[in-house]
Amino acid sequence: MGGYGSGYRGNSRRTTGECLSIDVNRFNRANVLQDGIGFVWGWKAPRTPKLTVTVSGDELTLEYDTHIRGVKESVKETVAISHTICNYGGGRPWFKCPGCFSRVGKLYLHDGAFRCRECHNLTYQSCQATHDPTRETMEGVKRIRRKMGAEGDMIYPNAPTPCRPTGMHTSKYNRLRQQLMQAEQTYQDAFTNGAERILGIS
Ligand SMILES: [Zn+2]
Repeated sequence: MGGYGSGYRGNSRRTTGECLSIDVNRFNRANVLQDGIGFVWGWKAPRTPKLTVTVSGDELTLEYDTHIRGVKESVKETVAISHTICNYGGGRPWFKCPGCFSRVGKLYLHDGAFRCRECHNLTYQSCQATHDPTRETMEGVKRIRRKMGAEGDMIYPNAPTPCRPTGMHTSKYNRLRQQLMQAEQTYQDAFTNGAERILGIS
């Protein structure tokens, strides 16, 4: 499979968890949706672009590089922000998807553009609405541990490596143990890196 946003993946639909995304609530909580602010948003997964965001009134300008099928392109795109008022006072911001102008909380980077889930025809991964590398990689660890016969607390990362179940061939057990080591490493990386962070505010 190619890097994030690399596009081609046969005929199967991409899932939301496989795409980088921006979350308007996360921007809002970070207090960066203010007129005149510029910041760089980064993802710590490998081979991901740096996204420069500048806020002008109720409009964000997104600038980033894409690499689609080996071709690098600099993209500049604007996304409008709209606000709804909550019953209990206060409001919440939304992105207006540049493709269909729907109000959405998240835009996903796919094929070089930030669009909503509908525009990109993305499915939700494992019926979970949020991209959470920590949880996703933890599921990988649990799956392998269960195959090794683990139960209870033994299915979680960093628990002792399960012993070879009676009846399981040594070669299969060794293969699973190898997979488990890799999965736990991936989990550790996701956990320590986190998903996204603000790199600086100009
Ligand atoms: Zn859309």
